[in-house]
Amino acid sequence: MAKKNRGKGLWNLESRGRGTCPICKTTRVKVLYDTVTENGTVKVCKKCK
Ligand SMILES: [Zn+2]
Repeated sequence: MAKKNRGKGLWNLESRGRGTCPICKTTRVKVLYDTVTENGTVKVCKKCK
């Protein structure tokens, strides 16, 4: 689990871990962090974690 959101492991992810954060709407950020919302679990950026 250490550093799971860093390094080469990201390259296996969809869009290499980058996308649009559903909360702050920032595009091309790394969207790596699971957060539970009323709509279920979503991936958000580091700032919105
Ligand atoms: Zn965000």
